[in-house]
Amino acid sequence: MKSGEIRQKWLDFFKTKGHKIEESASLVPHNDPSLLWINAGMAPLKRYFDGTVKPDNPRIANAQKCIRTNDIENVGKTKRHHTLFEMLGNFSIGDYFKEETITWAWEFLTDKKWIGFDPDRLSVTVHYEDDEAYKIWNEKIGIPKERIYKLDEDNFWDIGEGPCGPCTEIFYDRGDAYGDISDPEVNPAGENERFLEVWNLVFSQFNHNKDGSYTPLPNKNIDTGAGLERFTTILQDVDSTFDTDLFLPTIQETCSIANVKYKEKAEIDVALKVIADHIRTVTFAIGDGVLPSNEGRGYVIRRLLRRAVRYGKVLGVNEPFLYRLIPIVASVMGGYYKEIVEKQQFIEKIVRVEEERFHETLSDGLNILAQMIQEANKQGISEITGDQSFKLYDTYGFPLDLTEDFAKENGFTVDHDGFEQAMQKQRERARAARQEVDSMKVQGGPLTDLEVKSEFVGYNNLEVQAKVE
Ligand code: ATP
Ligand code: MG
Ligand code: MG
Ligand code: MG
Repeated sequence: MKSGEIRQKWLDFFKTKGHKIEESASLVPHNDPSLLWINAGMAPLKRYFDGTVKPDNPRIANAQKCIRTNDIENVGKTKRHHTLFEMLGNFSIGDYFKEETITWAWEFLTDKKWIGFDPDRLSVTVHYEDDEAYKIWNEKIGIPKERIYKLDEDNFWDIGEGPCGPCTEIFYDRGDAYGDISDPEVNPAGENERFLEVWNLVFSQFNHNKDGSYTPLPNKNIDTGAGLERFTTILQDVDSTFDTDLFLPTIQETCSIANVKYKEKAEIDVALKVIADHIRTVTFAIGDGVLPSNEGRGYVIRRLLRRAVRYGKVLGVNEPFLYRLIPIVASVMGGYYKEIVEKQQFIEKIVRVEEERFHETLSDGLNILAQMIQEANKQGISEITGDQSFKLYDTYGFPLDLTEDFAKENGFTVDHDGFEQAMQKQRERARAARQEVDSMKVQGGPLTDLEVKSEFVGYNNLEVQAKVE
């Protein structure tokens, strides 16, 4: 089954249950200063959950593009994480509650008419105080007690300001090849690849207020999220989300550009996966009006691009190439997300300019490093200090491992601890700056101003650059 069909089945299924289908919202949150990116299907629907707006139909379903930068380190290492992924959601605004939610989830997952997973491979977690959910799974659905895990904070959903509550999660057992169940980590409560979390059902009963307090919501709501990439992995019976029709074409294109093979060497595979992930995220973010810059969302995009360039070097690619992957992303994802097709050329231009600039940056970094080494040699020193390597990293975007390689070639070492300390100091500065910005936004610098500005200023800049080229 193709990923597009799975997405469509989701929407069709919830249509038969009386849901209104909402389009995916922009990745850039609208009127929500508490979030940098839309990071869950519910995020753009908060106005319904907190009662600000009453929906025409209290039952809603969607497929929502989401960005989670906190998963960046997992990308390419786990078999299931992306910086951008699609969350399939169904929502009830004061309408149905736990019983329908669980029953429908089970029907969608196990009925052959829908996605037809083997029911014996499914297990669930519930919040330890949620007897109601436990009973529904055990008595109504018939999941045996051994496959229902009672957990604590992992099963309380809370994304900061907004609705929250206990949840129940559904896991698919991928079998012995993915972990031995005698290992205490190999179960739905542990960190492992065997029990793949596919769906989170949140019973939102409380509101997390600005001041940190929790109050019961006037109407109880349902908020669920399932990963399209993960359903697809199981249905296409492949090793990881990267082997599905969502990512494989991009990986193959990268292989042909770099003249490397997938699935021969672990290091190469990680690079191919990171590149496929990051270019997709960048494509969508630029499609939603975010441009590479040195702050906020723009900085996230810049970092993702630079990271991808760096992994390109692992593949031996030393010139701009990421922009050449954008047509693939557009052809894979553009059926449902028209914006990336409409803006494809614009996105390619931005990425190409950014790549070119970063390659220049890298060669600038190399020159500066060469000077540092020369100076140090004169003084009889053979170490690059933490401040120096951090300056290269922070100001010139020159990654530590490159500094290290070059230093080694010259008989130098690099002070790692010093680098970490400098990084930590920088983080603290950034955190302080972020708090300042957040409080400004709350006090009335509307986020919408910011969005419009970044879109138009960037576009003009690009036009200028394009002319200069
Ligand atoms: P995990 O434990 O695997 O990191 P999560 O518990 O953080 O996932 P939720 O916040 O519960 O994820 O999100 C709901 C669903 O969205 C998950 O069950 C999963 O199917 C999907 N999902 C979450 N994060 C990612 C990601 N980074 N990449 C791909 N899919 C994701
Ligand atoms: Mg997670
Ligand atoms: Mg989880
Ligand atoms: Mg979860």
